[in-house]
Formats: sequence, C-alpha cells, structure tokens
Amino acid sequence: MISTGGTIAMIKDSETGVLHPASFEEFKSYIPELEYSSIHVDIIPFDPPIDSSDVNPERWAQMAMLIGENYQKYDGFVVLHGTDTMAYSGSALSFMLKNLNKPVVFTGSQLPIGVLRSDAKENLLTAIEIAAAQDEDGDAIVPEVTIFFEDHLYRANRATKKNSERFSAFQSYNYDYLATAGVHIHYFPGRIHYNSKHARLCVRTKTNTNVAILKLFPGISRQVVEAILSIPDLRAVVLETFGTGNAPSDQWLYEDLKDAVDRGIIIVNKTQCIGGSVEMGRYQTSINLLNAGVLSGYDITTEALVTKMMYLLGENTDPKTGDINIPLVKALLSTSLCGEMTIE
Ligand code: ASP
Repeated sequence: MISTGGTIAMIKDSETGVLHPASFEEFKSYIPELEYSSIHVDIIPFDPPIDSSDVNPERWAQMAMLIGENYQKYDGFVVLHGTDTMAYSGSALSFMLKNLNKPVVFTGSQLPIGVLRSDAKENLLTAIEIAAAQDEDGDAIVPEVTIFFEDHLYRANRATKKNSERFSAFQSYNYDYLATAGVHIHYFPGRIHYNSKHARLCVRTKTNTNVAILKLFPGISRQVVEAILSIPDLRAVVLETFGTGNAPSDQWLYEDLKDAVDRGIIIVNKTQCIGGSVEMGRYQTSINLLNAGVLSGYDITTEALVTKMMYLLGENTDPKTGDINIPLVKALLSTSLCGEMTIE
C-alpha cells in the first residue's frame, strides 16, 4: 500500500478542528484490522503525506516507479490518495504502467480515518481485498489501474470525481463498473482489460506539461481563444465543446484552430457533457473542427485526456533533438491504449 495522503490519511485536531496529515503510526493505529487480516500488507508512506491538489506529474512518476520497483514482491497494490485529483493520477498511472498484470487500486475517503462516520476503513479494506483477489490459477482478477469508492470499482481512466460531499464520490459515465462490493464482491470479467500474461511491465514516466484546456461557451471571444492558442511552447489542447462535439460556426474560430494545428499544436475535441461521445461531422457545427484538423476524443474523460496528452508528448520526444513525433502522438491519441475510450 502506497499512502500518498489526502483526507483518508488525515486526523482532526481536537482543539482547532483543522484536518492535518496523520503520522504514519497514528494512521496505522486506526486500522488494527491490518494486523489480523490474512492478507499481508506493507505500507510505503509519502513523507510528508500530501493533499492531492499538490499531486503533479513528478508524483505520478514517483508512484509508478514505486510500483515498478516492488512489482515482483507483491500480488497487488493499493494507493491511498486524496479524492480531488485521484482520477488524474489513476489515469496517468494507467498509461505509465504499460503491460500491467497486477491490480493497482486507488482509494481514499470523504471523511478522515479517525472520524466516527468515516468511509475510510471500508474503502481501504475492500480495496486491499480487491488488490489481492486472484482466480483459481493464481492470476489477478482485476489487473488494471482502478478506483474503488463506496461500493463500486471503476477503471481509473474512466472515472470522474462527481461529488465533493457524498460518500459516493466517483462515477464512470461511459463505462460500466468492474466490480460491486456489498455483502460479496462481484466481479464482471467481461468488462475487465487483460494484457497478455507474458507481457512484461514497462514503467514509462516521461511527461510534457505544455497542454491546455480550452472550454467553449456561448459568446466566447476571439481574444480568449487566441490568448490560449498563442501560449509559448503549447503542444496540445483539450477543446471542450458542446454536445456531440459542436462549436460556434464563426469563421474566426475555424481560422484560429486551423492556424494552431498548422503550427503543430494537437487539438482534441472533448464534449463538455459528462456522458456520451464526440461524433464529429454529425452536425454542421462540428464540420469546421473536422476541417481544421481537430481530432476526436470520442468518449474519453478530461482527466484521461489531459494525462494521456502529457504522457504521449513526453514519451515521444526525441531526447537528442527535443522534437516531438507529432504524427505518432496524434495516431496514439486516436487509439484506445488501455480501455480509456470507446471507438465505434
Ligand atoms: N483535499 C483532499 C485531497 O484530495 C480531499 C480528499 O482527500 O478527499 O487530498
């Protein structure tokens, strides 16, 4: 178990009421169950633990490398993580851990572990059970990067934090959950992504953060669009559009997007809707985007798209020249690498 921080690893100060990171020993004292469980768990804590708002690509690389270094030693991994950016970290790791054959289960909680009504213990103990679950041949049942929260197990690169208040904080709008946990844990093997059993894990942690999100809205001005598209060193843009991937049909928008694409900036169309897919060419209002060279993001989440862009840009840069293999990055952005999107 890699404990990065977040609410799950926080304690409420009895005098001030402020949440602060628990020391490793304090944290362990709240889960005596770990001592008498039949599953052996070692804990690797981040020191100091961090709020997930402070998790960045270096932290994703740190998590991925920890898993890589300990891969042969354990049957599965649980990552304790703040909920705020858990879907980003889970998505990033799904790309960084190529050929994964063991479970990596992210979990956290809405209330700290020491609070009476906390959801921490349930989430944590079920996540451990899922990480250790094997079939009769000794193979992992869910060898993917996942998020377990409340009573569902989601593919991490399909999940989104949907609620800052409820215990049911996550949802996967475009892909069914991989397991449910009630009295029993039910797995749905038909929904689980399996790599070849003989494939060897390959940890790839290079990233390039020169990406931006451009969210369209009625009345958006040319200055706003141009300000974003002229950011120095910008490499890729998530264009958040309406409905099935539509945008205002103003000529200037088409020209600005086309100019950016011609300058080598990769632009991917992602719908602002939380469910459903981009379908470019369905309406007249998306034809301009298609003609400008904007790619379809299909039904990917923003979290998965941002992290996939950073990962692909980083991994496909020539270390000597610094040149990015743009055609390859574009081709891979239009391919589902580990179940992050449905292409029909
Ligand atoms: N701010 C916290 C975090 O994401 C919230 C949580 O853990 O749920 O680290």
